[in-house]
Amino acid sequence: MLKNPNYTNLKEQYLFKEITDRTAAYQAAHPDQTILRLGVGDVTRPLPPVIVQAMQQAAAELGQPDTFRGYGPEEGYEWLRRTVVEQDYAPLGVRLEADEVFIGDGAGSDLGNLSELFAQDNSVAIIDPTYPAYADTSVMAGREIMFLPCLAENGFVPELPKQKTDIIYLCNPNNPTGTVLTRSQLKLWVDYARANHSIIIYDAAYESFITQPDVPHSIYEIDGAQEVAIEVKSYSKSAGFTAVRCGYTVVPKATGLQAMWLRRQCTKYNGTSYIAQRAAMATYTPEGREGIRANLEVYRTTAHSLKSGLQDIGYEVYGGIDSPYIWCRAPHGWDSWTFFDHLLQQCQVICTPGVGFGASGEGYVRFSAFSKPDVCAEALQRLKQL
Ligand SMILES: *Cc1c(COP(=O)(O)O)cnc(C)c1O
Repeated sequence: MLKNPNYTNLKEQYLFKEITDRTAAYQAAHPDQTILRLGVGDVTRPLPPVIVQAMQQAAAELGQPDTFRGYGPEEGYEWLRRTVVEQDYAPLGVRLEADEVFIGDGAGSDLGNLSELFAQDNSVAIIDPTYPAYADTSVMAGREIMFLPCLAENGFVPELPKQKTDIIYLCNPNNPTGTVLTRSQLKLWVDYARANHSIIIYDAAYESFITQPDVPHSIYEIDGAQEVAIEVKSYSKSAGFTAVRCGYTVVPKATGLQAMWLRRQCTKYNGTSYIAQRAAMATYTPEGREGIRANLEVYRTTAHSLKSGLQDIGYEVYGGIDSPYIWCRAPHGWDSWTFFDHLLQQCQVICTPGVGFGASGEGYVRFSAFSKPDVCAEALQRLKQL
């Protein structure tokens, strides 16, 4: 047996471990101090009751002879796929067929698995900084990666590659910068992909945080995108499903990849949990929508006060409008970890060093509005007194 040699090219996943280690070491040396965590990359608000009830009812059905179920369709139940088409896309003026929607256990899995639809020698372009899964799965597949820097200097808008690129990963709104591509900026990418026969893998995990009218809720709002884009969506950050596990991926037939992805899922994926799919279905009920709206409102308000608070203190901040994340430039030209250590030692506030999301994240840190509102308020007080 020979191991996959590409795995030796992966960078150590040190970011969150290093944060945990440095925080634990500081706490051990200062046991009486309260550490405030503003680095949270996971939802913190509980699920709306109607979603919990849907899961309880689904579980009860499985315990009764008349309502018991076995395997469901590999691509997800039709009632959920049809609801996605009618409730998530039709209102945007986007027409999809239910068999172009594939229910899965979350964006993380699909973002990784999609990579196997493409030939080994495809080139890859990835916005930088961003969610680490795109680069890591491309390295595992042995593909060459070109990084597209997103910096304050270019307004966090990646430049189109000069040469032909086959696979392009975009995340809009972006994690970690919290910044967005507008409809006209995204159109340049769709046009580029059509001209170069590229495929765009479009991660819309934070779509539900969008508030500005010129930011598209789906890449399919752009003409011709159904030929060149796969859109990956998740109930994780919108409905608080990071533990429930449910999301979906849209593979339009016009990409020429829909039959391949169906074949892949039927062979390697035996379907998403019935309970999780019933929970996803409950997000579309009036009570589900209202509960999710209320949770998102808490995150938005927190993001707003965090961003304006940091701005008032004099920090250079970005994002936080269509995203729970605020991207902050380290003062005095410091690198990400120097700023992290400074905040930890001087005011016991934890952020996420930007360099952990890619080379272009160096010199920035990420603050998160998934942190509890009272924790954010207290952290701002301490930062003001620095
Ligand atoms: C959280 C996150 C995901 C993963 O979502 P799951 O559906 O929970 O796997 C995907 N992309 C980005 C950018 C994220 O931040």
